[in-house]
Amino acid sequence: MVARIMAGKILIVEDEVDLVFALEYAFRREGFRTIAAHSGVQALAIAEGDAGVDLVLLDLMLPDLQGTEVCRRLRASERTRHLPVLMMTARAESVDVEAGYAAGVDDYIIKPFRMQELVARVRAAVRRRGPVVRAAAAVHASV
Ligand code: CA
Repeated sequence: MVARIMAGKILIVEDEVDLVFALEYAFRREGFRTIAAHSGVQALAIAEGDAGVDLVLLDLMLPDLQGTEVCRRLRASERTRHLPVLMMTARAESVDVEAGYAAGVDDYIIKPFRMQELVARVRAAVRRRGPVVRAAAAVHASV
């Protein structure tokens, strides 16, 4: 099935454990691989060290860093600057949207969201990333 071949690896950055479980379940069911980080610092370490990540699903509110700061640091690193970043925010936080785009966020999804919509957006963003970058990421993958 084409959709499964095209599916990629999603770095889920969220400190709400129940939501992480729900996201992992939803993405894996659709053929994606997932890796979870519960803080901004942990997310940056994973993104820097794991060349197989295709997209970062990033919560705005994290225990250590704001999601926008995590995105800024991803964009500042040669190794992670190309990664698509989809930011999750609560409706009340929408005032931060402009700051997020300035920090390099590619797209937003407002909580609460429908899992189907999120998966569709992620699938489209990974597809847009294109075969060249994906091939380069595969070359850099060491394990
Ligand atoms: Ca959170």
